[in-house]
Amino acid sequence: MNQNKYYHKLIFRCLSYYGKECECCKENIREYLTIYDTQELDAKESRRQLLHRAVKVKDRTRYKVLCLNCVKGYRENGICYHKEKSTTPSP
Ligand SMILES: [Zn+2]
Ligand SMILES: [Zn+2]
Repeated sequence: MNQNKYYHKLIFRCLSYYGKECECCKENIREYLTIYDTQELDAKESRRQLLHRAVKVKDRTRYKVLCLNCVKGYRENGICYHKEKSTTPSP
């Protein structure tokens, strides 16, 4: 319960600094938003540690606000499928 509260506080602090909507699709429902570390140096890092660091370093070029869908794109593809669709020329 307390852990959860702490987590939400962290998310809130991150979003107030990094932006309150998905950088890619402009989703703004907080429950769908998360912080993505574009460098993901330490894969073992927990969600909470990541947020903690994002708050501390305040590096907008490294951390992005993304919704869960877009994060999936970045993880699997290196870029969101939304963006891929709009930039890839049709054959
Ligand atoms: Zn999105
Ligand atoms: Zn997207």
